[in-house]
Amino acid sequence: MKKVFFAKWNKYMKFKDKVAIITGATRGIGRAVALELASGGCDIVFSYLKSDDLAASLEEEIKKMGRIVISAKVDTRDYAKAGELIALCKEKFGKIDILVNNAGITRDKALMLMEKKDWEEVIDTNLNGLFNVTRQAIVTFLKQKSGNIINITSISGIIGLSRQTNYSASKAGIIGFTKALAKEVAPFGVRVNAVAPGFIDTDMTAELKDNYREKILEGLPLSRFGEPREVAKLVSFLASDAADYITGQVVRIDGGLGIQ
Ligand code: NAP
Repeated sequence: MKKVFFAKWNKYMKFKDKVAIITGATRGIGRAVALELASGGCDIVFSYLKSDDLAASLEEEIKKMGRIVISAKVDTRDYAKAGELIALCKEKFGKIDILVNNAGITRDKALMLMEKKDWEEVIDTNLNGLFNVTRQAIVTFLKQKSGNIINITSISGIIGLSRQTNYSASKAGIIGFTKALAKEVAPFGVRVNAVAPGFIDTDMTAELKDNYREKILEGLPLSRFGEPREVAKLVSFLASDAADYITGQVVRIDGGLGIQ
């Protein structure tokens, strides 16, 4: 009975027969993206770093939606491991339709107090990790002559935020990468866009001190932090056919924080 229901329902899904790879999907924005794409009919391959329990619960949630899901404990800072993530998807599905480069970290500190490892960890995770995954997926996209890459950058990479020189640099790097790659692969029918969230309620922003949080809210036109599912809806739009003529863009979702 359940199978018949899913078979009928699948016909109307916008990501029917599609597969997406999402990096860092156990928590926050990545998790919301995985659930949003799965709810649209997408099968999911996702990576994470250490949250085994959260990975298992995400797998359960996606399976309940009637979708295929594969999780991989893959540190995307490691080039060979990142390759394994791509190989898992290729082996199971023979293709990649959507790649969401989401895994990211912060190590906020004033530059005068920032240690070399704070700089390196952030650049390594946010920027090198994105290269490691995308570099090893790109040939598949080019051969397919179709596909969608969505990179999660940040408003911090556009306007710069104090105590985030490492993070702003990594996210600005992602924006340059997105635009360059969009031009390079457009002739092959592959689109590349970036999403730039402002402050979103996740574990990452839970670290912020109360007084800093209040200061941010004062300067936020929409007077609240965003929710992961709001970012996920934007990612889903960019990954869908409705965005077929959009490439090389950095779409902000920031409650008005970066209005210029
Ligand atoms: P989060 O809640 O801290 O989750 C981070 C996710 O990335 C987790 O699933 C984590 O896995 C995974 N991850 C971290 N390092 C990894 C690595 N080396 N290899 C594989 N997976 C790794 O973060 P979030 O707030 O959702 O942020 C997601 C993305 O949005 C990041 O790129 C972030 O920079 C960006 N962003 C966030 C905000 C915000 O306000 N939250 C604003 C702008 C942009 P484990 O659970 O296993 O550790």
